[in-house]
Amino acid sequence: HADAAMYHAKDMGRNNLQFYERGMSSVAARRNLLEQRLRLAMEHGGLTLAYQPKVDVISGEVTGLEALLRWEDEELGTIRPEEIISIAEDTGLILPIGEWVLSSACRQMQDWHARGLPRLPIAVNVSAIQLNHKHFVTVVEEVLNETGLPPGYLEFELTETAIMHDPDNALRILNRLSRLGISLSIDDFGTGYSNLSQLKRFPISRLKVDRSFTAGVASDFQDAAIVKAMFMLAQSLNLEVVAEGVETDEQLEFIRNLKGNQYQGYLYSKPLGVADLENLLGLHAAAPSPTATADAEVD
Ligand code: C2E
Ligand code: MG
Ligand code: MG
Ligand code: MG
Repeated sequence: HADAAMYHAKDMGRNNLQFYERGMSSVAARRNLLEQRLRLAMEHGGLTLAYQPKVDVISGEVTGLEALLRWEDEELGTIRPEEIISIAEDTGLILPIGEWVLSSACRQMQDWHARGLPRLPIAVNVSAIQLNHKHFVTVVEEVLNETGLPPGYLEFELTETAIMHDPDNALRILNRLSRLGISLSIDDFGTGYSNLSQLKRFPISRLKVDRSFTAGVASDFQDAAIVKAMFMLAQSLNLEVVAEGVETDEQLEFIRNLKGNQYQGYLYSKPLGVADLENLLGLHAAAPSPTATADAEVD
């Protein structure tokens, strides 16, 4: 049967069905390959973090950083974070990867604090699967203990979808995290199906307005109106507002006029590796860390 089917498919040339099946199997094959390579990367230190500054809209000062996962595979090249996360969520790898992201980000931050970097908070993205895992709060407590980062310097970014997957459980977990001193943000706000009346019972400090809205504020009157309404509603509920994806002065001006609190985007800085970020924040004159010294001596 398989032979007959193959022969048939070959015969049909650019038939839609054949195209569809080929497409499907190459997607599945790529996911299998990515899963294997991702396991290897995890075990052999192939994952890294980039850090993107958050900036105060009025003062222009950096108010915090967001840790973003990066993976460059030797064979496959750079894999987009959305693709990594999607595969990690499907395979359960999101739990060890999420824990690695959390502990690496906290350790890096604690190291920067110790070396005299301005004491900034670090934001970590948390997926629905992590949030709903029964040991999540315990893992977070352990990471904070092990790295020594005070919980007040840790922020979690959660999407509306992650919270609304199981709202009652999310409420219990978020209350526990909030009592630990961790602050909570809604990421990609405006792209999910929730609304602020549903979200108001959660202990959330800020909304990050998705960059698909920011993109149009200076050119599309509908985007401008939507963003204006989001800002007003958020502010009347005493939530801070962060604009994502600010790329132009015009967009920043619009956000400033609406009294947005912070922004993130290429206009100020792309996500940066450790060395570039240290340069940006003026830490390049600091003494090398013990690890860096040890590395230098080995060379
Ligand atoms: P996100 O959390 O909403 O992160 C913001 C994304 O927008 C980042 O993409 C960032 O590089 C990009 N960005 C920032 N400013 C600009 C700008 O001005 N213009 C444009 N065009 N893009 C901008 P990135 O790093 O590719 O991450 C994509 C998404 O992957 C993240 O969206 C987040 O949902 C997910 N992600 C990344 N790292 C992690 C992680 O450690 N854990 C989890 N669960 N998700 C992660
Ligand atoms: Mg985020
Ligand atoms: Mg976002
Ligand atoms: Mg996103």
